Amino acid sequence: MPSTTGVVIVGGGVIGCSIAYHLRKAGVPVTVIDQGEIGAAASSAAAGLLAPLGSLAGPGPFADLLLASFAIFPSLVQELEDASGIRMEYEQTGALRVVRNPRNVPNLRKRMKAWQPLGLRMDWLSGEEARKLEPTLAPDVCAALYAAEESQIKASQVVKAFAQAAANLGATLRTHTRITGIQQQHDRVTALITSLGETIPCNQLVVASGAWSAQWSALLKIELAVIPQRGQILALRQPIPPLRHIIFGEAAYLAPKQDGTVVVGATKEEVGFNKQLTAGGVAWLLSTANRLIPSLEQSTIERMWAGLRPKTPDNLPILGPAPGWQNVTLATGHSSVGVMLSAITGQTLAALLVTGVAPELIRPFALVRPTDLSAEDAHGEW
Ligand SMILES: Cc1cc2nc3c(=O)[nH]c(=O)nc-3n(C[C@H](O)[C@H](O)[C@H](O)COP(=O)(O)OP(=O)(O)OC[C@H]3O[C@@H](n4cnc5c(N)ncnc54)[C@H](O)[C@@H]3O)c2cc1C
Repeated sequence: MPSTTGVVIVGGGVIGCSIAYHLRKAGVPVTVIDQGEIGAAASSAAAGLLAPLGSLAGPGPFADLLLASFAIFPSLVQELEDASGIRMEYEQTGALRVVRNPRNVPNLRKRMKAWQPLGLRMDWLSGEEARKLEPTLAPDVCAALYAAEESQIKASQVVKAFAQAAANLGATLRTHTRITGIQQQHDRVTALITSLGETIPCNQLVVASGAWSAQWSALLKIELAVIPQRGQILALRQPIPPLRHIIFGEAAYLAPKQDGTVVVGATKEEVGFNKQLTAGGVAWLLSTANRLIPSLEQSTIERMWAGLRPKTPDNLPILGPAPGWQNVTLATGHSSVGVMLSAITGQTLAALLVTGVAPELIRPFALVRPTDLSAEDAHGEW
């Protein structure tokens, strides 16, 4: 029989592993359970962009959350590399949001104005100035916004580092174990039941099940409106001369990586749990990339893959206690920005579990939203 565990986290993606790491730092016993390998789902499919502007309409609770997470990364990366022994290829490459159609210049200027109060450095560039910074940009790029502080990281290494650091501090990681049921006493979950009928006792449950989170609706009798959103993405060999900045076009993004590739992402499709690549998706990525950086036409395709984002109706995460339950906490629905939000999610959810009080930053993201929130969907339209 497995012994009673403190906190049981169902989902070993970047969100579950970050919470596990932060809980272990606070000395809380924790077990992470995943139906597959740790970090093998959305968290390893991500492009690893840490570029908050595109997801934000302006100041507000989501900006506070995202920018708080963004600000933690430089120190967190150092801390996690030391705690895990894993290098994460974190780089402040800067990002260019570029416009090819002059009719869209006012839109980008409008967004720049809305982003100004957020405090990130931004520079408006002419097409010529943008090409000085990034010489391979297409000749029809007529304006660009440069955000020098925006960064990127290798997403698969972030989740591995959180998991390894948590394990080094004593967390238990269980793979290939699917949770299909619960045992309860009144308003407390007392144990989880696996697909093989095994019972795993639990004092506190954290639902960090990514795109699969809606399965908890029936088990917990709450409405957890999280759906899978497919993202197709691919990696091309760097052109010569190589790309140095993250480029956001009006519909897709390109990110130069330390392994000599340029990652081109990503589609946004609601096709259930289908993770296959399609001719249409790949063709769209390739043609968009070629239009932004014509020299990519000669590049070889190194890799193509797809992942399932945990999407909520308002594209915002669900963070906080599960209504009607004494010992269930929700940490899901991170949509397109889960890697970026992993730092603050781990920190704040651990604080909630340790103290019983939800930190101010996450209160607007309760399952039942206390106020109307709006966010712009991340990455893709600048
Ligand atoms: C193509 C693409 C590009 C992206 N790019 C970026 C980016 O540049 N920047 C960014 O910040 N974000 C990006 N994202 C989004 C990011 O990947 C997600 O928001 C994040 O990975 C979600 O993490 P998670 O831990 O909630 O989910 P996941 O990583 O999917 O983990 C959930 C885990 O729960 C497990 N699970 C589910 N149900 C059960 C069960 N019943 N029993 C046991 N285990 C279970 C699953 O096996 C899975 O491993 C991208 C996503 C995609 C698809």
